[in-house]
Amino acid sequence: MDLKTKITLGLMGIIVFAILTGSKDESVEFSIAIHGGAGTITRKNMTPGKENAYRSKLKETLNVGYSILNKGGTSLDAVEATIRIMENSELFNAGKGAVFTNAGTNELDASIMDGRNLKAGAVARVKTVKNPISAARKVMEETWHVMLSGDGADKFAKEQGLDIVDPNYFYTQRRWDSLKKIQVEKHGTVGCVALDKHGNLAAGTSTGGLTNKRWGRVGDSPIIGAGTYANNQTCAVSGTGQGEYFIRGNVAYDVSAIMEYKGKSVGEAAQNVIRKLSDKGGNGGIITMDSKGNISMPFNTAGMYRGFRKAGQAPEIFIYKN
Ligand code: ASP
Repeated sequence: MDLKTKITLGLMGIIVFAILTGSKDESVEFSIAIHGGAGTITRKNMTPGKENAYRSKLKETLNVGYSILNKGGTSLDAVEATIRIMENSELFNAGKGAVFTNAGTNELDASIMDGRNLKAGAVARVKTVKNPISAARKVMEETWHVMLSGDGADKFAKEQGLDIVDPNYFYTQRRWDSLKKIQVEKHGTVGCVALDKHGNLAAGTSTGGLTNKRWGRVGDSPIIGAGTYANNQTCAVSGTGQGEYFIRGNVAYDVSAIMEYKGKSVGEAAQNVIRKLSDKGGNGGIITMDSKGNISMPFNTAGMYRGFRKAGQAPEIFIYKN
């Protein structure tokens, strides 16, 4: 082989190598998980129609988030978009479908966190914001605060050009009847955790809180570290359950702390936190995801509306324990 041929073959080799490595998809395997609340959700209390409605809404929601991530969109966009869909559905205790306070009003809480830089935003006790999760995101991106509450938060959302509704928009017969029966309906909060192709985690949670709540009560859902947490170094978490227990236990941050300080996997950390919640007498569940897209969704109630979809796979939806 003469020198010219050797050089030509060498160059061809380099070009083939460059094409092969260039076409290799170096992006992270993205993943998304959602919940629609934990509580006394049993087969006995369920009708086939109701179960179908939940399953198809959870699937629709997951697929929207999945397609955002699949196109290279951010985990924050996926979290916000999926939670907005659940907020717009009467099935869940968030946005339209939120439970009533003791005074017969609806007061909504939501939070969102970016695992890339630990930035976070939250709103508590808003009464006119159609999609509280979007208001939480605006707080994160447009202010130097983390949480806005009450009338100020409503005013801020309006100034930001978000959809504002008459408080009557949140009226649903089902939740009104629950208030009249003074049933503390504990389920229906929504949440989402996601990992995008760029390797960034995000988490968000949105709720109407607890039926019959009084005195301006705020639960864990808008509290960063209690109901929501995301950190690329560890995990993303969204919780649902008795907020007072989640606040006292710093539940969402606890999962991250166990991973960081004890070197546990997301599954071990999540189980550990739910065990601690049970020991303290609290009820609820969490959806968690680590930076590799591993998912763990433990809960100590009869059921939790939940589902996930990993890159290249079909959506998986679950309601009951088994
Ligand atoms: N954690 C919510 C709260 O306490 C309620 C729920 O998740 O069902 O406000």
